[in-house]
Amino acid sequence: MKVRVEWKVDTTVRSETLELLDDELDADLFVSQLSSLTEVDPSGFLGDICVVRGGFRCDSISLPSDAGKLREDDTVRFGFCVDDNNIESLAASLQSMMKGIQSPNVVNAASRRFMQRIDGALATRRRHDDNTLVSKARRIIPIEKIESEAASTINATISLEERRVRALLKWFKSKFFTWVDKPQCIGCAKNDKMRCVGSRGAQTPQERRGLAGIVEIYACDRCGGATKTFFPRFNNPGTLLDSRRGRCGEWANCFCLCAVALNMRVRYVMDFTDHVWAEVNVDGKWRHCDPCENAYDTPLMYESGWGKKLTYVFSIGDNEIIDSTRRYTKKWPETLERRSLVSEAWLRNYLSTLDASMRNSRSLWSPAMREQELGELRSNVSAADTGMRKVGETVGRISGSAAWVESRQEDGGGNDAAQRFKRIFQTLVESGLDPNAAAAETVRRLRGGNR
Ligand SMILES: [Zn+2]
Repeated sequence: MKVRVEWKVDTTVRSETLELLDDELDADLFVSQLSSLTEVDPSGFLGDICVVRGGFRCDSISLPSDAGKLREDDTVRFGFCVDDNNIESLAASLQSMMKGIQSPNVVNAASRRFMQRIDGALATRRRHDDNTLVSKARRIIPIEKIESEAASTINATISLEERRVRALLKWFKSKFFTWVDKPQCIGCAKNDKMRCVGSRGAQTPQERRGLAGIVEIYACDRCGGATKTFFPRFNNPGTLLDSRRGRCGEWANCFCLCAVALNMRVRYVMDFTDHVWAEVNVDGKWRHCDPCENAYDTPLMYESGWGKKLTYVFSIGDNEIIDSTRRYTKKWPETLERRSLVSEAWLRNYLSTLDASMRNSRSLWSPAMREQELGELRSNVSAADTGMRKVGETVGRISGSAAWVESRQEDGGGNDAAQRFKRIFQTLVESGLDPNAAAAETVRRLRGGNR
């Protein structure tokens, strides 16, 4: 079918006829896709709205009166306020969006929730490019120390780029950030008797500035339970530069900002089974980096070490998004079975549209590079699994207390040997040893070396 799209820029009206494969198109889907372009909640489109993204201010959309479906010869009207020199790129974005939504699968509440989760991660990643926050990070990070450690490393077999990332990871975990299962009580300054008794939204100015999504509320049994301690889960990486504590969300968020501050190309990686980490481009390849674990390039650690049953993993850069799940699993068919939130066809379509809309003229990440990466990801799972794992990929989770890790069943088995391994390994890593070396040393000690 053919659909007419009109957009009004000040008093000029431009229009374009787009050929879509479908005979009709769910208007809901159209609106959801549009929300990924304009960054507004789908439900917000029906009133008077005003959103800003990439310089495009959209202040009205009118869908055809026959609500629910777009059909042949329908017209969709947009009101945009943009600079004259932005009109062409707006037109290009709209066209790529319209192309991307052809032959979709149904959109429903589940796919809407799916998109909202991704939107949240996109918003997080965008903050890492905020110049004010990057400057703040540069004032706080001991850049010279990290650079000189990277430059002076004796191991010349690895590249300087890799040594910089490793030095940043090490500093971040050993000197900068602190893991918090439960916060310290404001009454007695201990945390061993803290109980989480609920949560609330951000209320104080500090919580709002820090973009706290939720504020966890704790009671201390040591103090009788009357005193409440609040633990805001900040999403503003600038606030995290000061608070320097949290769980994986805070760690990955702040680490990405620090990596950007060191001029690294970084991606924020969101895993739908409740973990986040980063990827840094090292010598042209995206390398897994988990700041909570001081782990570098051990992508199979979640599946093989922690025993995670991964589903969806998305890597979000400054102007790209890619489904990188296959970098993190050797059990792709099983993983695919668990991916039941949305159809794979819908997901591919959605991601490629979103990816296209994120690209801009400054993009260093060309379509050819994307294709190359997708090829690598495909071959990663089509290659036979030899069962070989890097040492760091076989250990359970080290961040968090043993009880917390066990409660999440991420300890890689939970038996005594695993716990003993973990304790020794963690101590060695905290003393500054590289995780691979620490794992080898742990094995040596467990086999009867010095304890
Ligand atoms: Zn207390």
